[in-house]
Amino acid sequence: MSERAIGFEVTASEGEARAGLLQTRRGVIETPVFMPVGTAGTVKGTRFEALESEELDARVILGNTYHLWLRPGVDVIRSCGGLHRFIGWERALLTDSGGFQVWSLGNIRKLKEEGAEFRSHLDGNVFFLSPEISMEVQAALGSDIVMVLDECAPGEASHGEARTSLELTARWARRSRSRFDELQQEGADLGKRSEHDGPLSGGQALFGIVQGAAHADLRRESLARTVEIGFDGYAIGGLSVGEAKPVMYDTVEMLAPLMPPGSPRYLMGVGTPEDLVEAVARGVDMFDCVLPTRNGRTGQAYTSRGRLSIKNARFAADARPLDEACACSVCRRHSRAYLRHLFTSGEMLAGVLFTHHNLAFFLDTMRRVRQSIRSGDFARFRREFIERINSGVE
Ligand SMILES: [Zn+2]
Repeated sequence: MSERAIGFEVTASEGEARAGLLQTRRGVIETPVFMPVGTAGTVKGTRFEALESEELDARVILGNTYHLWLRPGVDVIRSCGGLHRFIGWERALLTDSGGFQVWSLGNIRKLKEEGAEFRSHLDGNVFFLSPEISMEVQAALGSDIVMVLDECAPGEASHGEARTSLELTARWARRSRSRFDELQQEGADLGKRSEHDGPLSGGQALFGIVQGAAHADLRRESLARTVEIGFDGYAIGGLSVGEAKPVMYDTVEMLAPLMPPGSPRYLMGVGTPEDLVEAVARGVDMFDCVLPTRNGRTGQAYTSRGRLSIKNARFAADARPLDEACACSVCRRHSRAYLRHLFTSGEMLAGVLFTHHNLAFFLDTMRRVRQSIRSGDFARFRREFIERINSGVE
């Protein structure tokens, strides 16, 4: 049934760049799409009404399996009817596998064939994450798009290390697929729905993840083996993990055009606004990144002329908006001077307003990317966007 869980159609293309429609059980998502990250069931500093508003209009957000599994725990979320009901969000949700957070724990995890043992960053309790457990947790969360459990080799991994990691990722992809299919079947048979309305498992989509670090031959092999198993969509993992930027662009440029043309392509954890535009130009359809929200909380604004740090004293009496080219409600109403005052005073509104502007900038950039692909004007858009963003904040 995962064949029917999502539909994807490319409606326009220019070079490798594609505009398309991703149909999920919770609505249509126009691609290329940026997905705000809702780590612990919240896109930090943002109300769901704002995400749904015409101004942001986020069609899909992320939830983090690792964080939600540890707190509040699967039982709480399941008894509240799944993650959508729990957080009050009716649009699409993608959940990651929990793998990336576990790898980030470094020394406090133990990797085995069966899975990874790790200590919770909250209370030090020992947890065990396997492909099967990841699928079970994501089924209980009831997300619309589920990610396989993979192992992420470091960006500078040697050929040998990357191969070992790739092999494990391939075995875990099969195990993820197999447990996922059982859960979907069980969900469909039982008509398993949340107590309220929505289906939990029974209609989820599953994405595979391509690994292989910076080694082109391993990337191609990982892709072939992932496609052989068969998924609803394909992700490029293990980038933006410390490798040099040209390595990321080269890997995407080599890999994306080889990915199945009829399936969505998702570049995980990337990136800055210019990364998004450059990856779209290389054939990517979906992105997620914590940058707009995380940097928003530290007074960093993404603007059409590059990044602006409000800590800079030159903005102390600057009556201009964060970005004169931005039509968001923060830029329409507030000056840099006021935003700097809020930030330096430690007012919580500062993080809220910076986050809102940053999300508006990311989501509006993707809207313009889609429009330019549809009108055959993407090459010019890309050139002007990159030129402008490198010109520096005045
Ligand atoms: Zn703005």
